[in-house]
Amino acid sequence: VRPMTAAGNTAYLRIEHLWKAFGEFHALKDISLDINEGEFICFLGPSGCGKTTLLRAVAGLDLQTSGVVRQGGRDISTLPPSKRDYGIVFQSYALFPNLTIERNIAFGLENTKRPRAEIDARVKELLMLVGLPDQAKKYPAQLSGGQQQRIALARAIATSPGLLLLDEPLSALDAKVRVHLRHEIKGLQRKLGVTTIMVTHDQEEALSLADRIVVMNHGVIEQVGSPTEIYRHPATLFVADFIGETNKFEATVAAASVSFGAKAFRCAPHSFANGEAVVAAIRPEEVIPHGPGSRSPGAPDVVKTPENLIDVTVGEMEFLGSFWRTRLRGGELGDEILIADFSVNATRRLGLAEGGALTVELPADRLLIFPQGERHGGG
Ligand code: ATP
Repeated sequence: VRPMTAAGNTAYLRIEHLWKAFGEFHALKDISLDINEGEFICFLGPSGCGKTTLLRAVAGLDLQTSGVVRQGGRDISTLPPSKRDYGIVFQSYALFPNLTIERNIAFGLENTKRPRAEIDARVKELLMLVGLPDQAKKYPAQLSGGQQQRIALARAIATSPGLLLLDEPLSALDAKVRVHLRHEIKGLQRKLGVTTIMVTHDQEEALSLADRIVVMNHGVIEQVGSPTEIYRHPATLFVADFIGETNKFEATVAAASVSFGAKAFRCAPHSFANGEAVVAAIRPEEVIPHGPGSRSPGAPDVVKTPENLIDVTVGEMEFLGSFWRTRLRGGELGDEILIADFSVNATRRLGLAEGGALTVELPADRLLIFPQGERHGGG
């Protein structure tokens, strides 16, 4: 297993060779991961990939079949949840309906047998922290979903745990509240510096929140990296496909080129064998529009790889607010269709319109190459 961080033994949370079986089914297959103190980590992946199972193993809510979990150097693998040091927020608000907001927040603190005055002060402080100072005497049902999740968050951090676990905490909320609360969670996490793991299937949420994203699929980790690493340098076709939009073409590689449609495109160095069948991929926003149907674009200096220019016909254009999602076809694309996202500016400047001719560039360093028939998750 390759190391997931350069931090070595200094990792705050260390997951070592974790397996989880439900009968014959392996929900987690040899997961190893180091998480540094203060990091905001997102477990991201499609439904059923094992992200909740992994979080629950860290929490001790379900025990792993084998493997070790260490927190702050301590082996916590078999400790019951009550003996572990974390706060948790679930998707459903999970507040006690018959307790007031202040009693809900105080719940964990009361178990620590602190003096009443200290608990009251801490509850006040937490209510301020989550921006709900006036709600102390209300009951959960009197609050909105977003407000209830803030209270759940306040309750989770009340005892200043070493680890904050968030299991899809925003997914039950409507879009606007979700985005708003996302920023608040991030702000709070930064302020407290608490090591945080959040489970989500929402790529945008993971990209905007995480210091590092752990992309999971079929019980294995596909890639661990910062949002920009994951997005710009996806390690596998699964990651490229799952996060963001990607054009994919069945292709053949040579030493310095990759061929699909009716053209050989120059590409970055790779380790594939000459003539190997691969999948070539490029993000729609990496396709550069250069001019209307001409190989002599006005400003040659902006062409990064002149040999990767192709003449195409502009097909359907879909307006998506800040950009146009455009289908390109014809010419050296052969039977392939290339989806390109063009900024509103470029579209206007170049006078792009359906049916028009256009020269685009597929920059060599933005062409991604993956093995064909890549098995997702390594079986
Ligand atoms: P979701 O986003 O849908 O919650 P997930 O990535 O969190 O997905 P898990 O809940 O971790 O997925 O489940 C991983 C796999 O393990 C799934 O295929 C699920 O069906 C299976 N699984 C989870 N819990 C159990 C259980 N108690 N018994 C049997 N199979 C289970």
